Amino acid sequence: MKPETLALPNGYRVTRRTFVRIASAASAVALARIATEADLAFAQRVRPLTNVPADAILINANENPLGPCAQACSAMADLGVRGGRYEYGMTQELLKTFAEIEGLKPEYVRAYAGSSEPLHYMVLALTSPEKSLVMGDPAYEAPMQAASYSKARILKVPLTRNYAHDVKAMVAADPNAGVLYICNPNNPTGTTTTREDIEYALANKPKGSILMVDEAYIHFSDAKPVLDLVAADKEIVVLRTFSKIYGMAGLRCGFAIARPDLLAKLDPYGWNSMPVTAVVAAKTSLKSRELVPERKKINADIRNDVFSWLAANKYSFVPSETNCFMIDVKRPGKQFIQAMEAKKVYIGRVWPVWPTHVRITVGTKPEMEAFKKAFKESMEAPAVAAIAPHSSVETWRAERPYPSLS
Ligand code: PLP
Repeated sequence: MKPETLALPNGYRVTRRTFVRIASAASAVALARIATEADLAFAQRVRPLTNVPADAILINANENPLGPCAQACSAMADLGVRGGRYEYGMTQELLKTFAEIEGLKPEYVRAYAGSSEPLHYMVLALTSPEKSLVMGDPAYEAPMQAASYSKARILKVPLTRNYAHDVKAMVAADPNAGVLYICNPNNPTGTTTTREDIEYALANKPKGSILMVDEAYIHFSDAKPVLDLVAADKEIVVLRTFSKIYGMAGLRCGFAIARPDLLAKLDPYGWNSMPVTAVVAAKTSLKSRELVPERKKINADIRNDVFSWLAANKYSFVPSETNCFMIDVKRPGKQFIQAMEAKKVYIGRVWPVWPTHVRITVGTKPEMEAFKKAFKESMEAPAVAAIAPHSSVETWRAERPYPSLS
């Protein structure tokens, strides 16, 4: 017999049992703070966010300087007069549009105000003091933030020599893993993990764990998406966001994509209605055929120009396929960030495993010209209180115990 379900106002249905679980989880959830890329980017700065000069170059938080496309902006303007209504139907239409494009059933997709929400909720739901989080290193730190709320162990597995996720080491890291998190392409390195490796992780992950593949940056790269593995009902959750190639970070729209029984794990953390502006902008953007290839090319051209310049000047960087990349500044990255900030160029943060690397977001052409100038000047200035430099990422990796516990 099918369990009785209750309809929520946003169109989702939950079983009575889930409804009770939602109520009982509410007090624990109240502790959770959702960490976005912008939070993480600004957490390492000296100056508070409110003091950023108006003419500063912001290439620190992997935002897209192009913003939403023109059609999305007109759709939002047209929608303005209907902004007094919740318009739940529009969210359902967005899910249907995405599902149709990707060959999924609409019930396999849920919309949130950004993918940070389902990312945190999935980790909260699937990790605990007994069930660890396994992830790459360096990789996007938001899952760690969520795991700190569930008091889970965090196992950070260094990337391979090619800066891919070391899937063999990840599946072997902990037989009691709750979540294996693969960011593909990876933030901060912009490097990719092959489809074969992701399939290996899926086939060999510890029993009872879920593979979470974060495809926030997928459109910038040639990495193979894995939504078909969701359609094939595998134990995988894929995250997508409109914050990157679609330029909608401030508008807030993202998806969790998985089998309905896996999406149900998000139920205890609740839903809010989606901002209608984000919904209409996302739907309009999805319908544009040119948007992704055009922006992919714009980003790649600017990134490759910067890479040629870095190589010509003998600076060492990790070749990326996305809108961010790591440079080894051969001195404490945090001090270098401050030197750049003094020149009003805000670059991204440092990961503890690579203390002499800083992450740069690809901005517009003029922004990257300003970056080059400030970067060269800062590199030529004497390093302040420099630590012994690590000659390369490989040396640093070789010195590091593997896999490591945080
Ligand atoms: N995943 C990765 C790897 C990210 O870098 C980000 C943001 O930068 C997100 C997820 C979440 O983005 P949002 O909440 O804006 O959709």
